[in-house]
Amino acid sequence: MSDLVITGGTLILPTGRAVTDVAVTGGVITGIGAHVETADGTETIDARGLVVLPGVVDPHVHFNEPGRAEWEGWEAGTRGAAAGGVTTVLEMPLNAHPPTTTAAAFDAKQAVAARSALVDYGLWGGLVPDNVGELPALAARGVVGFKTFMCDSGIDDFRHVTGGVLAIGIKATAQLGSVIGVHAESPELLGGAAADQGPLSWCRARPIAAEVAAIRGLLVAMRGAGKHARAHVVHVSSPEGLTEINAARLRGIDISAETCPHYLAFSEEDFERIGPSLKCAPPIRDARTRDGLWTEVLAGRVDVIGSDHSPCPAEAKTRGADDIWQAWGGVSGIQSTLPVLLTDGVHARGMTLEQVAELTATAPAQRFGLHPRKGAIVAGADADFALLDLDRTWRFESAQLQARSGISPYLGRTFRGAVVRTIVRGRTVYVDGEVTGTAGWGRLLKPNGAHAN
Ligand SMILES: [Zn+2]
Repeated sequence: MSDLVITGGTLILPTGRAVTDVAVTGGVITGIGAHVETADGTETIDARGLVVLPGVVDPHVHFNEPGRAEWEGWEAGTRGAAAGGVTTVLEMPLNAHPPTTTAAAFDAKQAVAARSALVDYGLWGGLVPDNVGELPALAARGVVGFKTFMCDSGIDDFRHVTGGVLAIGIKATAQLGSVIGVHAESPELLGGAAADQGPLSWCRARPIAAEVAAIRGLLVAMRGAGKHARAHVVHVSSPEGLTEINAARLRGIDISAETCPHYLAFSEEDFERIGPSLKCAPPIRDARTRDGLWTEVLAGRVDVIGSDHSPCPAEAKTRGADDIWQAWGGVSGIQSTLPVLLTDGVHARGMTLEQVAELTATAPAQRFGLHPRKGAIVAGADADFALLDLDRTWRFESAQLQARSGISPYLGRTFRGAVVRTIVRGRTVYVDGEVTGTAGWGRLLKPNGAHAN
């Protein structure tokens, strides 16, 4: 007998949409259809008029704990996840200290995540110049992939790799059946601080050409790693970058691409107006590039959308008010992925809800080995849902922001389309503006077939 039934919502299923019911037993989806069984004790959620999406699987967040919990931490970060309809996060190896480049660091992060997370999570490992020998142990722990940088990461304890180590790392991760996640900007093409310290000087110093050159370099490094090499380019900021990736994909290379809501929601003009809270790398691009990215997203040439939620203390942003180069680079955006896609995608550009579900849930779960447990509304999967009111118009106010710093470039933005409830394994963790989940509910996820050596 089911213990939760969600009735009358528009479910976004792998086969398309259906106005029907979904039943949950023990945190797992046990029935989809109009005749699900209920009993006296069954919790019923009336979802008439709402859309029921699979919960967002955000493949790219930084929670900075252990070591820099004052930057955000697992509890604050996953409260934001809950408020954004995000039911699974894949958390990056850097900005926590120690970075997740050893098995011991994995264990330290897992210890804090297990007691603090409100939503489910997987952990990325890291590839840095001196830890190739650690990769098998990290794979055995169940990392969802290995993140690496082709340029300076912005943080001293996570050094970037050069061509040789990148090639060795790709080969090693391929042998482990894992995927390498790459920050692709070519250091040779990145500029330094200019006389002008305004936001646009940051954009000019990190041109699209640097992204394109790095992706080409990555493809060269993959060539020597054999046919099992798998790469995932994080936060692609330009259609030109996607063109490189898609050309490689057509040649049979196993490479995928992520873009982020901030590249879809903002342009350089916004960055000039909003300032340091929107500083990130690669930088926000011009409006033409943003529109070109939308074309790629709508055409299916982007695999996944991740928030790259990367908060910091407020002071690390405000100190860049007059000199953008002094600000920390990272956008606090975990709550805004669905609102951006609904407002700027579904309502403004004809994006379908099926595309939203694919990009934010199904595809990331598949790419990182969490499917079919995560990422789709199907019998046998975890009961993770984001319930949406498609037509609610609202303004993102400070009181709604979960980020510890109180800073986000999305504050003050008006959205059409809101997350009204988030459910993780059958439990409501957010409803009508209130985070109702509890720390410790989230569970560690490991990719299918992660092998233990
Ligand atoms: Zn990141």
